[in-house]
Amino acid sequence: MYLSPHALSPVPLQDVSIDDPFWSPKLKTLREVTLPDVLAKFERDGALTNFDRVRDHQTGGHSGPPWYDGLVYETMRAASDIMAAHYDAALNAELHTRLEGYIARIAAAAAVDPNGYLNTYTQLERPEHRFGQNGGDQIWQHDLYNAGALIEAAVHHVRATGQTNLLRVAARYASHLSDVMGPQPRRNIVPEHPLPEEALVKLYLLFREQPTLHEAMGFPVDVSRFLQLVEFWLEQRGRYEGRVPLSIPQCGATYAQDHQPLLQQETAEGHAVRAALLYTGLVAAAMVNRRDDYFRAALRLWDNAVHRRMHITGSVGSNQSYEGFGPDYFLPEDAYLETCAAVGMGFFHQAMTLAFANGRFADELERSLYNGVLTGVSLKGDTYFYENPLTSEGRERWAWHGCPCCPPMLLKILSALGSYIYAYDETGLYVNLYIGSHATFNLQGKTVHLSQRTAYPWEEETAFTFELPEPARFELALRIPGWCIGAQVKVNGRTADIAVRNGYARLIRTWQTGDHVELRLPLPVQRIEAHPLVEAARGKRAIMRGPLVYAMEGIDNPRPTDLILAADPRFTTEWRPDVLGGVRIVRGESADGSRWSAIPFYAIGNRGKTPMRVWLRQTLAPNISTVQWSQEELYRTAAL
Ligand SMILES: [Zn+2]
Repeated sequence: MYLSPHALSPVPLQDVSIDDPFWSPKLKTLREVTLPDVLAKFERDGALTNFDRVRDHQTGGHSGPPWYDGLVYETMRAASDIMAAHYDAALNAELHTRLEGYIARIAAAAAVDPNGYLNTYTQLERPEHRFGQNGGDQIWQHDLYNAGALIEAAVHHVRATGQTNLLRVAARYASHLSDVMGPQPRRNIVPEHPLPEEALVKLYLLFREQPTLHEAMGFPVDVSRFLQLVEFWLEQRGRYEGRVPLSIPQCGATYAQDHQPLLQQETAEGHAVRAALLYTGLVAAAMVNRRDDYFRAALRLWDNAVHRRMHITGSVGSNQSYEGFGPDYFLPEDAYLETCAAVGMGFFHQAMTLAFANGRFADELERSLYNGVLTGVSLKGDTYFYENPLTSEGRERWAWHGCPCCPPMLLKILSALGSYIYAYDETGLYVNLYIGSHATFNLQGKTVHLSQRTAYPWEEETAFTFELPEPARFELALRIPGWCIGAQVKVNGRTADIAVRNGYARLIRTWQTGDHVELRLPLPVQRIEAHPLVEAARGKRAIMRGPLVYAMEGIDNPRPTDLILAADPRFTTEWRPDVLGGVRIVRGESADGSRWSAIPFYAIGNRGKTPMRVWLRQTLAPNISTVQWSQEELYRTAAL
């Protein structure tokens, strides 16, 4: 069975405005607290001064880890997306000024090298070792990861502002990369940390969509070489002519997915953040070259990562020693699960959603967003988790970290949230996420406005209203989540017969202004059972309601670790606007008759150090109605 590739386009950030009781307050905190917090800490710790030192031809004295440049660029991408979403003019003006200051410093540093090479760590500390050459250590230096983050930030910056000052730096550097690496006589160098793959595809697409950008560069840019380089990078993994294979303790070359040609890889291996970003780049390239072997490899890797190596929160990377994937079904409760890896998987799911137009992938995007991603930042927005295990004896969120990679990654995905809600093709509009919003999109030459009103994931009803200049016939595809039983749709007050195909309820009709669609997704509390081969979760159940995984914290329950669920826990829920920024609490009964209460997993770690648990032991009785989470075979038949 094989899903056929499709090609959806996202409705971009500029054309979607989010107005949602769940997300709007969180996004406000993100742009008003988290973004300035992260930028201030980078400035305080010398991340921008590194560029000044390169500009001034200094040596030594690099601040922070070698990938600091990349983290600054990633945060600039997020800031650009926030500007693109246009929340308010004053914020945009403030971000504009701040970014202009950064870009001036970055461009001045890039001007030092005649080819536009830029990696402040390598230039200050190891000038002989560019791209890990001449005995350097590419895995430590992060030359190409930093380059990728720069290119990506530049593309987002152009899309947000129309300005080309950062793009000039990025395009020049990208051209230099194409000169240096590739098939012989160029050098066999592949990214030690993926990201440049997707970034170069984005750069290629930007120039194709906006050919006038060429004139603004002031130097020739051959974008076809960018795509060739991406294909080289993807296909050259595991081929070591002229370079030394990686040897990382415990996982060797799998650490950077460099153990085998990528198109032959069957399983998700190695460092989880690297893997997720590499697979995202693979799909990005496939969307352009439309190669079947690329799509097939992406499906295989997604299937393995999601159905055998991912936790119920959407997090991946069980193994602490190399921050990576373990073997199939190795999903311990105290797993490592870096925030960045859940974010990376979110990017991968979104890319797969667009590539295959199948709701199954958006289901997993939703799982990542509402659980593994959102838990990475506190509700106040200025403290963070790097690791996200499913059990703990009490953990404190940190204000900053020696490797502060997670806050920028989290900012990247959440700043782009508006562009994940809707997608379209020539036949219709897909709704992938239930987030209150107003969207404008062009379908068959007509400008269509769609409003979505919802209190998801707390409430079951979502409503859509259309506004069009004249009636138009197209399909409205509403994602019906895989966990949802009994979804109902009404069009203009009348129950519609819904045929769910590839994860979407499809409504084909001639739409006109005022047409009103109501969707009801039942949200019962569900007990979820893991795949029987997941040893750590055997005999245990997790609690979910809709896309939210629930957790018990010691502050609400005396001993969450010892708690045993009753055979019939008699679930109740209560909306508590005063708790944790407003949450629906789930309550139930334990085997000893006492009552317990659980909060959404994303909200853990906001009330001091307290024990926490997701998987709960359960009194097993016959005829218990539970839902098995990893319905691998079912999905294989139905989706793959
Ligand atoms: Zn991280």
